[in-house]
Order: sequence, then structure tokens, then C-alpha cells
Amino acid sequence: MRDRLSRPERRALQREDDRLRALPLNIGGDPRRAEAHIRHVARLLGDRQSKSGCSDAAGYAVAQFDKTVVTVTEGGLACRRGCAHCCHQGVTVTAPEAFHIAGILRRAPGRAAAFLEAELATRGLSRGERWRARIPCPFLHNSECTIYESRPLSCRGAVSRDVGACVAGYVDLKQTDIPTPPGHTLVLNVWRMIVSTAIRLLNLPIAGYEMNHAVAVALIAEDGEKKWLNGEDIFAPVAQDTSMAPQYLQSVERLATQLAPTL
Ligand code: SF4
Repeated sequence: MRDRLSRPERRALQREDDRLRALPLNIGGDPRRAEAHIRHVARLLGDRQSKSGCSDAAGYAVAQFDKTVVTVTEGGLACRRGCAHCCHQGVTVTAPEAFHIAGILRRAPGRAAAFLEAELATRGLSRGERWRARIPCPFLHNSECTIYESRPLSCRGAVSRDVGACVAGYVDLKQTDIPTPPGHTLVLNVWRMIVSTAIRLLNLPIAGYEMNHAVAVALIAEDGEKKWLNGEDIFAPVAQDTSMAPQYLQSVERLATQLAPTL
């Protein structure tokens, strides 16, 4: 393993990262651009001067997802404002996203109380039970997402080219493939990888949590973010997404090990 960089080397690398981050994230091209984003997300997460490093990191990731996805857009999406068939299913979030959304709720105590009440309706349901129950997301109001600008990466990745397939899958509950443009899915996976690797760079566990319960935990736990950043597993009671492929987890570990000396 390489030795850690000296302070001047780290400063020079940070300047280079800032230059690379300003360029489009060319997926499949120069890997240094993705590496620059990984280090940046890790720096945001670990910034103890910030009120919420997790919120900064999650906000950065979702904004960058939007910037990246327009560079590969293939058009033809059926998704429209007010169309919310997919918002009646379970959503998976990372811990920083849960803290980010909890921060939004904390700024509106009335909304936080309503959320905590609504969240109980989905607590403990399996993915299948949730799919069949068609319980609306607690953030859905009049068929619109009330945290749209801050919605998690999973929601940003849930797009479709065919509203008929969405109705069949989410309303009629038939086993249906939702036709999602491959470029969109690729960008989702790349940004998930960037966030996961940044989390591993801080020696924290990567996991996908059921959004509603995870946000409730992030909202209620005293000093929850601080505890999580210090390695306390405050999300232990929350159901995890077990579909993460071992190859994905291995790739994240490899990349984090490779980048650790440069942080
Ligand atoms: S967070 Fe917003 S986009 Fe995601 S499921 Fe809930 S209402 Fe829909």
C-alpha cells in the first residue's frame, strides 16, 4: 500500500480534484474524474466544521447525479409532474441521504410530526408486502414529491419510458419490467458507487436502508449523525436492502483501499 500523501501533496491533489470535478463526469473515460468526486464526497462527509457533513455530501451527490444524467440522456421518458405510480413502493437510501432528508424535516416541525406518524404505516413491511399494500410515500402530497429537489438517488433513478408498464407494475401489481434507459441506470450506479466508496473511505459501513424508518431514526436519534460518523450503528433496527451484489461490494472495497492514502 502507498504511504499517505504529505499535506502539500494533499492540497495540490485537492486543487486538481476541484479542476476535474468541474469537467463532465465521463463515465468509462478518465477514472480520475470519478476519483475526484469520491474524495470530495468523503471530505464533505468528514467535515466536522459543517452543521451536517452528511447533508452536504448527499446534497452534492444528488445535484451531481442530475448534472451527469443530462449528459447521457436518451430522451423518451414517460415521467411527468403529477405522475407518481412509483411513489407507492419502498425506497432505499444511504445513511447520508437519511440525515439529509431528516434535516429538511427538522426545519419544519409540523411536517416532521406528520412524517413520523405516516412512517409507522410502512414499518416492518417486507418489500413484497409493501408493493402489494401500495402505501403512498410519506413525502407524496397531491401526487407530487414534497422533497423533490432532495429526493434520494434511488428515486432519481426510477424513471420509465412507458407509463403503461408503470401502471401494470405499480397499480395492477403485475410482474412487469419497467423500461428504464440504460444510460440512466448507469449514472445511478456510478453515483451510488461514488457515495458508497466515500463512505468506506471514512471506514463506515455501506448499506442501503428502507427510507422511511431510516429517516425516522435519523430524525429522532440524539446526535445521530455524530454517532454514525463515529461508527455507532444507529441504523441497526432498520431493514436493509439485501440485493447489493457481492461483486459491487468488492469493487467498492478495492476502490476505497486504492484511494485511502490520497485522502
Ligand atoms: S421521496 Fe419523493 S420521489 Fe421518492 S418515493 Fe417519495 S414522493 Fe416519490
